[in-house]
Amino acid sequence: MTNIVERVVGDLLVRLDRLLCVGFGDCIEAAPALWEFDADGVVTFREPLSEIDRERVIRSCEVCPVDALTVIDASGQVVVG
Ligand code: SF4
Repeated sequence: MTNIVERVVGDLLVRLDRLLCVGFGDCIEAAPALWEFDADGVVTFREPLSEIDRERVIRSCEVCPVDALTVIDASGQVVVG
């Protein structure tokens, strides 16, 4: 699996660097509809993605202690990262 994975969530592009993730699960706690642990204990996007509040997406990425999560809006502006 590649280390960088991305999903379009509403008008946001969410990027996860799986190499940086240390697996504390803060993002999952903030947005369990978006994130889950895989078998290796590394966070991955939940599939299929259900509808999720935009602010919750952003918040779940802001809480990452190691900046493994990046959010970019439709204009290319980095919202989190
Ligand atoms: S908050 Fe960051 S370090 Fe923690 S599980 Fe999520 S991606 Fe990994």
